[in-house]
Amino acid sequence: MKGLENLKLRGRRDEEIVEKVLKGERIDEGEALYLYSRDLTFVGALAEFINFKKNQNYAYFIVNRQINPTNICIYGCTFCSFGVKASDSRAYELSLTEILKKVEDSYKNGAKEVHIVGGVPPHWKYDDYINLIRRIKEEFPQILIKAYTAVEIKYMAQISKKSYEEVLRDLKEAGVCALPGGGAEIFSERVRRIIAPYKASGEEYLQIHEVAHKLGIPTNATMLYGHVETLEERIEHLKLLRELQDRTGGFQVFIPLAYWPYNNRLGGERTSPVDDLKTVAIARIYLDNFKHVKAYWITLGERIATLALNFGADDLDGTIEEEKIVHSAGTKSAVRQAKERLIRMIREAGKIPVERDTFYNPLKVWEG
Ligand code: SF4
Repeated sequence: MKGLENLKLRGRRDEEIVEKVLKGERIDEGEALYLYSRDLTFVGALAEFINFKKNQNYAYFIVNRQINPTNICIYGCTFCSFGVKASDSRAYELSLTEILKKVEDSYKNGAKEVHIVGGVPPHWKYDDYINLIRRIKEEFPQILIKAYTAVEIKYMAQISKKSYEEVLRDLKEAGVCALPGGGAEIFSERVRRIIAPYKASGEEYLQIHEVAHKLGIPTNATMLYGHVETLEERIEHLKLLRELQDRTGGFQVFIPLAYWPYNNRLGGERTSPVDDLKTVAIARIYLDNFKHVKAYWITLGERIATLALNFGADDLDGTIEEEKIVHSAGTKSAVRQAKERLIRMIREAGKIPVERDTFYNPLKVWEG
């Protein structure tokens, strides 16, 4: 049991899982589910063992900027606190000039990436989506553009009558270099009927990401947990991601997103810190074909995100500059983070900070 000598094993099942982890073999869905019944230290030790093999003692962050061009959305997902109808007093839509100004400000402050996701407004045309990317790329050719969730891409395909492949080719040609992971929620149809009945289905999300991977566009994968899903449905979600990753290898990172229950129709309760950390750790153990697992400080909060770096996560996301989506749902975390603070969080966790680009290429390492 080299590396896991001090683990307290409770029986044959623990021994089998530990043996698999030590040999670098994958655990199955029943074992992933079983890990939710085990204590946090056991699960965390296994996750960190795997994380160390994949990423040594390094933990990543990026200097980036989030832009949400509009919160107007036709879909009305019950769990969402961000999207509103055009008639709502909270509705907003940024002009192209305002968006370019935000990119310019961030670029001057060292941002390497813009992350663009928003609502799905009824009046946007296909060319609006494409031109936005093209204009940013023309003005700031060095900045990497990670843009549009599978939900937005499905809508673009619908209104343009193009295939997913044609839409993704257009986006790539305009300047998109990667896709964010939003819109996955929980893939189960039962859950989607309750929380997101109208937007892209789980199957469509996976199809769009698969096409992107085949076109050489890497993507992120997410899972929104802590609302109406069962633990079995979480594991089924991870299974579908692991299977797609086996086929394409195009996912860069898995991001568990803790649900925030305020200011929406679904309501509910906050996830517990133990659930948050176990979910990060179990994902790290189960998703053996993912190199990175992110502790998204916006949804976890800075303290749990820092802790998660000792429970299998190796990435904090970034400086972000302006976060609207999770703040609409009540998170109390900051809207932005100074680069120095991210470095401090990583060091507090006993890890070595690495500033990265969108593709996890290291740009600077803070050794020592
Ligand atoms: S989750 Fe996305 S698609 Fe659903 S209502 Fe919110 S912004 Fe619209």
